[in-house]
Amino acid sequence: MTEHPTIATFGTADGQLSLGGMTLQRLAARVGTTPFFAYDRALLTARVERLRAALPKAIHLSYAVKANPMPAVVQHLAGLVDAMDVASTGEMATVLDTVLPAERVSFAGPGKTEAEIEKAVAAGVTIEMESATEVDRVVKIGDRLGFRPRVALRVNPDFRVKGSGMRMGGGPQQFGVDVEQVPHLLARLVAADVDFLGFHVFAGSQNLDAAILGEAQRRTVDLIVALAERLPSPIRYVNLGGGFGIPYFAKDIPVDLDAIGANLAELMATRIAACLPEAAVVVELGRYLVGECGVYVTRVVDRKHSRGRDYLVVDGGMHHQLAASGNFGQVIRRNYPIAVGNRMDEPAAGPVTVVGCLCTPLDLLGDEVALPPADIGDLIVLFQAGAYGLTASPTAFLGHPHPAEVLV
Ligand SMILES: *Cc1c(COP(=O)(O)O)cnc(C)c1O
Repeated sequence: MTEHPTIATFGTADGQLSLGGMTLQRLAARVGTTPFFAYDRALLTARVERLRAALPKAIHLSYAVKANPMPAVVQHLAGLVDAMDVASTGEMATVLDTVLPAERVSFAGPGKTEAEIEKAVAAGVTIEMESATEVDRVVKIGDRLGFRPRVALRVNPDFRVKGSGMRMGGGPQQFGVDVEQVPHLLARLVAADVDFLGFHVFAGSQNLDAAILGEAQRRTVDLIVALAERLPSPIRYVNLGGGFGIPYFAKDIPVDLDAIGANLAELMATRIAACLPEAAVVVELGRYLVGECGVYVTRVVDRKHSRGRDYLVVDGGMHHQLAASGNFGQVIRRNYPIAVGNRMDEPAAGPVTVVGCLCTPLDLLGDEVALPPADIGDLIVLFQAGAYGLTASPTAFLGHPHPAEVLV
């Protein structure tokens, strides 16, 4: 039952999955309703510690809030990371409630409106401008408000990163300014009354290959060095993006963090020390920080046998955890790690298909998975639910109640 590395990470007690030092049934009783999401505080802390140990000390670790914007999670991480990246003014408000000073907050994403930019300029967060229009808006709003906007430019690189689950740089993109258009914009920015800090490149998400991630970081540094040479004063901000993936499927191999750290250490000691000596170097991670620290817990409400197939019907589904159903960015549907959380010591029996309670065949959570025989009332746990879970799911679809979320 515990072959997937993440399942083993949680640990068990009394034959049950253990979270935040509690057995799963006790936690379910504490929450009082299923389904629910639970995020493990100690695992989040351990994750940050593991990253700190592997990455060079000088790297600023930033949390990309859209991966999991639950306020308690954001509050907990605010005490552990150096910075946070937000993708909306809603996320910005959540982060401004934490101990992190506004100078440690960046605001990225296409399509920022004047109203959003105005809030961000007033807050003093760093606006990562993604187009010439956004540059115009920021300059105008800074003049109007009488505050100097803190800004960086998000650059769409001229290379692509292979092996990313979602590509967000290279080729035509809605993200960032194409590198060939940047010199023209820099001339404008140098003349404008803004505090221009530096550059941001985020080339792709969910990548498990340390060699490819390392190459992307090297090429990003080269690109930023070339752009920085055009500026009259040294840049103070270099955001290398992130994109570190987590293992979702049986054959996925966890990313080699030490190899990434070694590559970054070499970059810091060579190109960055020589050419970008005043820059804070940021690595920005969402999924890698929180994805493996959370579970989605559902309860079996029905068991069925239909023409040779065994089914478990649970009280949750794709309306809460879309990704596990395979409908969030997967080309071929594969099963997320799954367990009967109150039968962790029992051997797996024949394959069973776990479905949610929505009236659509899309609501498939585990297709012919090997689980111990489960009864009505048992707790089915879906792992890798800490990132892009609840807030990336169509919660209004079919009108079921909202699930609880707890940080334990
Ligand atoms: C979504 C996003 C991230 C986080 O991506 P992960 O794959 O979750 O690490 C980082 N930076 C930016 C700009 C993003 O939009």
